[in-house]
Amino acid sequence: MKFGGTSMAGTERIRRVANIVRAQAQNSEVGVVVSAMAGETDRLVNFCREANALYDPAEYDVVVSSGEQVTSGLLALTLQSLGCKARSWLGWQMPVKTVEAHSKARISTIDAPEMVASMEAGEIAVCPGFQGISDEGRVSTLGRGGSDTSAVAIAAAVKADRCDIYTDVDGVYTTDPRIVAKARKLKAVTYEEMLELASVGAKVLQTRSVGLAMKEGVRIQVLSSFVGDDAVPADELPGTLIVSDDEMELMVERGEMERQLVTGIAHDKNEAKVTLTRVPDKPGAVAEIFTPLAAASINVDMIIQNVGRDKGETDVTFTVPAADLARAEALLEDKREAIGFNRIIADTQVAKISVVGVGMKSHAGVASTMFSALSERGINILAITTSEIKVSVLIDEDETELAVRVLHTAYGLDAED
Ligand code: ADP
Ligand code: ASP
Ligand code: MG
Repeated sequence: MKFGGTSMAGTERIRRVANIVRAQAQNSEVGVVVSAMAGETDRLVNFCREANALYDPAEYDVVVSSGEQVTSGLLALTLQSLGCKARSWLGWQMPVKTVEAHSKARISTIDAPEMVASMEAGEIAVCPGFQGISDEGRVSTLGRGGSDTSAVAIAAAVKADRCDIYTDVDGVYTTDPRIVAKARKLKAVTYEEMLELASVGAKVLQTRSVGLAMKEGVRIQVLSSFVGDDAVPADELPGTLIVSDDEMELMVERGEMERQLVTGIAHDKNEAKVTLTRVPDKPGAVAEIFTPLAAASINVDMIIQNVGRDKGETDVTFTVPAADLARAEALLEDKREAIGFNRIIADTQVAKISVVGVGMKSHAGVASTMFSALSERGINILAITTSEIKVSVLIDEDETELAVRVLHTAYGLDAED
């Protein structure tokens, strides 16, 4: 059972979480993974920035991992106050071993025989999400939203029957229900689609957690912790299940799910658009631009190269995460001579809107529906990318909500009232 930041925001809410855990513990062995209280990690990140703008990632991890330590202890205490046996297992105690960079570490192994023995003896294990221990024995963190990944990794390590991710919405919807009131809750989503939705901005699950669940075959349910005592028990699957293609096939055959061309729509406002003007239109020019960005681990997403104008020059436009924009601009400025461009034009007032669905593999026309629907509302498209099960467009950030609503209707996803 994993509880996110809003579910853990304050002792009152932690008591509600403890009640949900206690009820589940009556018929299962239970491990719980918790996030820091909502807003706490942001607050800690800001302290690091204030202390030292060029902070050492290892010390950043020491600071930002502390929010989860607090909520783990508080949940264990609250469970004890309800008469349950419970104890906390910090990342280094389990241990959750991690590799790669501080502040965005990856879990390598979780071998927690003592924790498993304690669970078998009837004690509820409470684990802080987000944190681990590096090769050098130092505290590490898994990147923002990483508690979802902690939960899936621990579920895989203890061979759990299910990984229930409790949050502030009661499942995965066709789009963010806070933007589109007519969004529909999905009974199930395939791993592949959820992975794509998460990677293009549906923040309900961290992308890595879905990739790991797919690889390890962990059964995930997304459900709400904001429920009353009369709520449908988690074992009766009131939320959204993340399932394999085969399981989805069975659900469709049994009439529990309908096949849709588009499963969901996501948006992402954290991208920035960069245009380099008057780049020489010759072999190797594009490599000169993207090689230094790749070397600096800056992820380039959409790329457009305009048809060469006269004088053998062209414009190249691409997107990078907004957080990496300053670094990208500095790197390109350094290479101005080698690349031979005229100007850099950067724009952070953009948003990426994506439609995702496995139905696209076998049906044409998904992209054209998107382009027509947006054009009917006068929404201009700045860039486009596609994959086998996704079409993304870049638009003006001010038009994000409108675009998501228009597309939701255009693909027939609106709930009937
Ligand atoms: P937690 O703190 O529990 O980890 P998050 O804020 O990370 O919760 O994720 C839950 C939020 O994800 C919801 O409040 C909702 O606004 C947002 N969200 C975005 N896309 C979707 C979607 N397709 N279905 C459900 N929620 C979504
Ligand atoms: N507390 C961390 C964050 O805010 C991890 C998480 O909640 O998933 O990113
Ligand atoms: Mg989250």
